[in-house]
Amino acid sequence: MFKRVLIVGAGPAGAWLAYRLAKENIPVVVLEKERLPRCKPCAGILSNKTVQFFDDTPHADSLQASAESGVHKLVFRHEDDPPLNSISKHGFLLVRRSRFDTMLVEMARTAGARFVTGQKVESISSESGHIVCTTSDCEYRGTVVVGADGANSRVRAEVDGSSAATGIGLQAEVRSDDLLRQYRGEILLDLRPDMIPGGYGWLVPKQEHVSIGIGSVGESPTGLGSSFRRYLDSFETTAQDWQVDRMTGHPLCTFTPRKSAAFAGEGWLCVGDAAAVADPITGEGIYQALMSSEMAYRAICDSWPDRRFQLDYRNLLEAHLFPQLRLAYRLSRVLYRWPSHLYRLVLVRPILLQTFIDVTQGKDTYSALLRQIWQYLPSSLRRDRLARSLRSD
Ligand SMILES: Cc1cc2nc3c(=O)[nH]c(=O)nc-3n(C[C@H](O)[C@H](O)[C@H](O)COP(=O)(O)OP(=O)(O)OC[C@H]3O[C@@H](n4cnc5c(N)ncnc54)[C@H](O)[C@@H]3O)c2cc1C
Repeated sequence: MFKRVLIVGAGPAGAWLAYRLAKENIPVVVLEKERLPRCKPCAGILSNKTVQFFDDTPHADSLQASAESGVHKLVFRHEDDPPLNSISKHGFLLVRRSRFDTMLVEMARTAGARFVTGQKVESISSESGHIVCTTSDCEYRGTVVVGADGANSRVRAEVDGSSAATGIGLQAEVRSDDLLRQYRGEILLDLRPDMIPGGYGWLVPKQEHVSIGIGSVGESPTGLGSSFRRYLDSFETTAQDWQVDRMTGHPLCTFTPRKSAAFAGEGWLCVGDAAAVADPITGEGIYQALMSSEMAYRAICDSWPDRRFQLDYRNLLEAHLFPQLRLAYRLSRVLYRWPSHLYRLVLVRPILLQTFIDVTQGKDTYSALLRQIWQYLPSSLRRDRLARSLRSD
């Protein structure tokens, strides 16, 4: 009876898990509150480690075809300091989320997963060994429920009572041929502690528009809306043409030791943003959504149809995702508290930037980056609070 997995949410985390389970002939139903394709505020930057997820599937070419472009150059700015340019050998893929997410849903559908859209899960209950997800007009029963329902996860709220959000991201899609010309082929990343406390701003050129956004984590910064307006103004005043198509905001769900405790229990677990596993430095969350779903897939498959997979899921996250995220969390607290110290250190030690880019691409680790920072930290700072924060959680 009801031997199936119910997944709430058809974003990257839900669709990837549905794809993997369906390939193993495990019945899957995905409940999604929106009609697809739905709009998700996102800069749409895919690191090489994310792209590699598709290498072992027959869909690697579809991913490349669905992407808007590829970018190798990153430009970092910090106040009046000289900009830092960096070239990433492996490059980043720029995608439009509606197209990328649709591609993932189609992969899962082709593998045999069923998607039911326009179904907002409102409550979840447990009845004699199975789970019931209730929407406004239907009840869905399954052996297991997976919360892939993002920042405002209903599943997480129902079973744990907590929220996954740790910050906020604001983004505008701007039509400006002038900005497209100026920034074609590069991603601009702006550390502006005066305007964006606890985060950074970005400009990402797409095919027909540029995405301009800011993201901030930590204690909810006040006045972020007006900071965003000022950040947008700083581009508008330099552009010949300017039209804002869409302006959106969405919570960020970055890893913190308190929020990201491998959310799982008997018969349920959370993946992706619902589990708060995005990178606390970059805000990247798609790789972590796919990775946590991959861990969930392995844990569910190994015990199926037994519902006691939570220990396996936790162990897999502990083995493959959390140790680096813990170090990233530690470094993020230093970077966003003392951005000028770290930026100026990188100006004199550019190798640190190369290592950071390699970390984002999955070619190096946060442990190596932290070791390097420590090695190059001037002795004047070694006894400082900054140094203590670098060394402790
Ligand atoms: C402004 C901004 C920019 C970003 N830029 C990047 C980037 O460039 N690169 C990157 O890697 N990451 C980026 N991220 C993070 C990334 O967008 C998320 O980490 C990623 O979307 C998480 O995927 P997910 O599947 O867990 O959740 P989501 O993509 O949020 O999907 C959750 C799904 O669940 C559905 N849902 C929610 N509640 C219910 C319910 N009750 N019932 C049914 N369905 C429900 C939603 O409609 C949604 O479709 C950015 C985030 C923000 C806010």
